[in-house]
Amino acid sequence: MKSVKYIVTIVVLFLLTSVSFAQDYGKVQIKTIHVSGNIYMLQGVGGNIGVSVGADGLLIVDDQFAPLADKIRVALGKLGEGKLRFLLNTHWHGDHTGGNATFGKEATIIAHTNVRKRLQTRQVIEMFNMVSEPAPKEALPVITFDHSLSVHFNDEEIRVLHLPKGHTDGDSVIFFTGSNVVHIGDLLFSGMFPFVDLGTGGDVKGYIKNVESILDRLPRDVKIIPGHGPLSDIKDLKAFHEMLVETTKIINQRMAAGKNLRQIQAEGLPKKWAMWGNGLLKTSQWIEIVYKSFSEGG
Ligand SMILES: [Zn+2]
Repeated sequence: MKSVKYIVTIVVLFLLTSVSFAQDYGKVQIKTIHVSGNIYMLQGVGGNIGVSVGADGLLIVDDQFAPLADKIRVALGKLGEGKLRFLLNTHWHGDHTGGNATFGKEATIIAHTNVRKRLQTRQVIEMFNMVSEPAPKEALPVITFDHSLSVHFNDEEIRVLHLPKGHTDGDSVIFFTGSNVVHIGDLLFSGMFPFVDLGTGGDVKGYIKNVESILDRLPRDVKIIPGHGPLSDIKDLKAFHEMLVETTKIINQRMAAGKNLRQIQAEGLPKKWAMWGNGLLKTSQWIEIVYKSFSEGG
């Protein structure tokens, strides 16, 4: 009986997740938040967008879902009349690259080599039952890199740094070095359990390591545009890191004691972390990702 209840819960969670992805984009409003100097953050549905506006024109980081492209264009138009020159992708996921086909016609798309590879081919995300078909040519990055590159734009060096396997195998973090702002992509789901895409090169251990290496190199007063969640700071990133370390430790200890996924999910996590399960992922989904990542990779 207990296992039937468990399966029902999983099916319901699964449906809820699917429904949240199949939203009515017509009702979505794009919110513009001033971050610092000439840097802005746009929030709608999907990954947060970073914007640099200035004499050289516009540069954006990520572009949410395809149906939102017109609304994003209107929001950008309110920030500056300049031409959209560059589009950077933090990773391949459709909630960060969906607008590529539209914006790629006017701007040069820059991303890590693996982002181009994954956009060119069919991808599957089992946890959300999502399939991503190969993207058209205009949606593909034109400039790719393996480690890092810089765009000198609007009077500052915008440094793009690739990190090893974490959220996916093509993650980049973008430092607006003059403005003291970083767009950290999906290495921060502010205040919620993160999705780690094990099917496209993600790895929980690597993810935590990458968060640590970013934490080490950021100035204390930096402003952080997270992949998901509100505009954040170092305190938020530290809290996120603490959550990652402590919850994975608990799950690993239970795995070492011989418990299976269902048993660990049934036990749940301490109350302290309950709020983190109110975002994109439920607590049981986060436990599943950690369990699978550590079963595969050790
Ligand atoms: Zn993502």
